[in-house]
Amino acid sequence: MWRKFRIAILLTVLAIVGGTAWLDQHRTTSWEYTLRVGAFPVNADGSEATAAFIERLDEAQLRPVADFVAREAHRYGVALDVPIEIRLYPPPAAPPPAFSPDANLLGRIAWSLRLRHYRSQVLAGIARARPSIALFLLYHDPARANVLPHSLGLQRGLVGVVQLFAARAQSGQNAIVTAHELLHTFGATDKYDPGSDAPLYPAGFAEPAREPRYPQRFAEIMAGRVPLGPGQQEMPDDLSQVLVGPATAREIGWIR
Ligand SMILES: [Zn+2]
Repeated sequence: MWRKFRIAILLTVLAIVGGTAWLDQHRTTSWEYTLRVGAFPVNADGSEATAAFIERLDEAQLRPVADFVAREAHRYGVALDVPIEIRLYPPPAAPPPAFSPDANLLGRIAWSLRLRHYRSQVLAGIARARPSIALFLLYHDPARANVLPHSLGLQRGLVGVVQLFAARAQSGQNAIVTAHELLHTFGATDKYDPGSDAPLYPAGFAEPAREPRYPQRFAEIMAGRVPLGPGQQEMPDDLSQVLVGPATAREIGWIR
């Protein structure tokens, strides 16, 4: 009984949130005016090394992500000069709600609602020119963690939780992960096999019509790897080796 009641409440809240999400989605994929993206760095491990990294972080380090979106949008004929603008904000007072990958469906829905609430609270603290999309950049000291938790980007909610290494040497990889999650907020879907990490053909290929098919020269942003041969792929170094493929371009409104 209690469980049914909880589900009913969650579904009602979701329906209301869903209505506003549809409006937001329409706004963020029209590509008629510059979208403001807010980047909020978070010290994910509480270490001094990460704190020092965040202290030195500046907007110039996020620039490659905005440049990538502009370069690719223009390649697909988007007329808008500056499609997105990423602004760096001070760290929020508290970290975003933690995501547990083992959570059941109900747990995931509850988490996504908590995250949206968190996002709106953080954005409410910004007086003017409030961003439409919020990216929470969770930095980890590479000396403490070899593997990062999964990053997430939600179109319904216009929010991303991006897990990154607090190291300048990782800036190429960090930019790729940030761009990937940002494109999720525009409605792009993943295009790789979660079991093998292999890009899916044709959607996960930057140049699916290229002959011969292998080796590909670029990674598709939502597949994340350069296909070199069947079952063989490698990580790109930075966004100069990454393109938005036609399938992703269609999902985010660059091809109509
Ligand atoms: Zn993804």
